[in-house]
Amino acid sequence: MTAIADHPASTSAGGGPAASAGFVALDEQWSTHNYHPLPVVIAHAEGAWVTDVEGRSYLDFLAGYSALNFGHRHPDLVAAAVAQLGRVTLTSRAFHHDQLGLFCRELAELTGTEMVLPMNSGAEAVESAIKVARKWAYQVKGVPEGTAEIVVAGSNFHGRTTTIVSFSTDESARADFGPFTPGFAVVKFGDAEALAGAITDRTAAVLIEPIQGEAGVVVPPAGYLAEVRRICDENNVLLIADEIQSGLARTGDLLALDHDGVRADLYTLGKALGGGILPVSAVVGSQAVLGVLRPGEHGSTFGGNPLACAVGRAVVRLLATGEFQERSRELGGYLHGRLGELIGRGVAEVRGRGLWAGVEITPGGPAGRVASEALARRGVLCKETQDSTLRVAPPLVITREEIDKGVDAIAEVVAN
Ligand SMILES: *Cc1c(COP(=O)(O)O)cnc(C)c1O
Repeated sequence: MTAIADHPASTSAGGGPAASAGFVALDEQWSTHNYHPLPVVIAHAEGAWVTDVEGRSYLDFLAGYSALNFGHRHPDLVAAAVAQLGRVTLTSRAFHHDQLGLFCRELAELTGTEMVLPMNSGAEAVESAIKVARKWAYQVKGVPEGTAEIVVAGSNFHGRTTTIVSFSTDESARADFGPFTPGFAVVKFGDAEALAGAITDRTAAVLIEPIQGEAGVVVPPAGYLAEVRRICDENNVLLIADEIQSGLARTGDLLALDHDGVRADLYTLGKALGGGILPVSAVVGSQAVLGVLRPGEHGSTFGGNPLACAVGRAVVRLLATGEFQERSRELGGYLHGRLGELIGRGVAEVRGRGLWAGVEITPGGPAGRVASEALARRGVLCKETQDSTLRVAPPLVITREEIDKGVDAIAEVVAN
């Protein structure tokens, strides 16, 4: 125990079963208990594979909830980070630097938008979009000061800040964290009529995940997102698409909304935007909306820092080739075909798009947590969301053979 605490790395190579247990115990004692991770202690990772402190390797079927779309340590992304580490990493926004404008231009061009507000975490991007939408409502739409409303969907996941959990419908995300921020109306996801009914002349925006990840990779009914766009247009309301998990090639297109031919006024991006190397998030949209922010009204010390911008630029370059979107489309079709074979054999339903699937375990089968642990023992890492859903979101560099390995393990685990 003392040896591990003093020299965690010294036990990494072939450290024996005690090595993992020692690190888990350290986390238990010294890190807050706001997560319940699987008892796998990762020491190394490359592409779609990770290796634990005891030298066992695992296929990554989760990809950091889509933060690792390009796999672990993609050489282009690591090279961009290393090169920038040798130049300048942080300036604060008190000064200009030579990566910010290029990052913003390249990301705007990639996403077909005009302006970029760079932040760090996903929750910050969502917070920023909320602030921008409120300011737009007062300054442009003419909503009376202090009364703007934002309509959101039930079972949403937009992050963990006090304002964001104020409109969560997940009790464990909210309990004991009030008082809550007012100004949000929650309607059923997938129900356009309910959404239309919640719009008032004070509504600034509709904030929605095009596919709800945390809720279990829930795809809305066909036509819903186009209908949401139409309702927003009719009522002079902004559409904010939270594409932090669904965006950047995960679904087989650059943005999940692209499948529906729908454009949002603001997109929140995060997770894969940092290439799995560091937190990088952004709000992207039109000048007419993002242009409402003036100096001093919003910011972040690390938002748009040179290192983040350099990595973000390398991410944009990877996405600009279309290769990852293509892989997600093709291999996603294969993944969904293979998972579909499990329906009636321990799986009740498979949802999702591209290399992204919510696998609903048949009632009476293993709990999601038990299934995740059993998968880890078989060398496949994924994680339950809700109680009975396995969220499958492998890195987009995964191969067919690796998908087979993962699906075969799921088949074994859910069959009993
Ligand atoms: C992960 C996620 C967030 C929050 O991102 P953090 O970087 O964890 O703050 C927000 N929205 C969606 C849809 C997400 O999946």
